[in-house]
Amino acid sequence: MEMDAEGYKNALSGLTDLPYISSEMLEEFHKAKGITDIKCHRCGNEGWFVYSSPEVGGNGIPAAKNESRVDVDLFTPVIMLSCSNCGTIWMMALAAVMQWLKTTRYAEMMKD
Ligand SMILES: [Zn+2]
Repeated sequence: MEMDAEGYKNALSGLTDLPYISSEMLEEFHKAKGITDIKCHRCGNEGWFVYSSPEVGGNGIPAAKNESRVDVDLFTPVIMLSCSNCGTIWMMALAAVMQWLKTTRYAEMMKD
């Protein structure tokens, strides 16, 4: 199926149903997963902006259907951070974070 403008819009609107992930949640996630080095790999800065809000919970990156077609009709929900110094983007699959959050005190917030 070709992706027209309407389909693109619909795909994006579905993303607004994703839950709000706070920076505190992300911090706990990183600790739980043993990620201790949160320095930007470009500039070494440790400050990050989180692109998530209660209104729009997540972002999505386009995913090609297969190797021969690059039509975009799938989106991989991601949590996006940007280095507060140099702007380098750091993305994580939202699914991985949500899966972990469901095992924590935030589980109630993760219900559909
Ligand atoms: Zn940086």
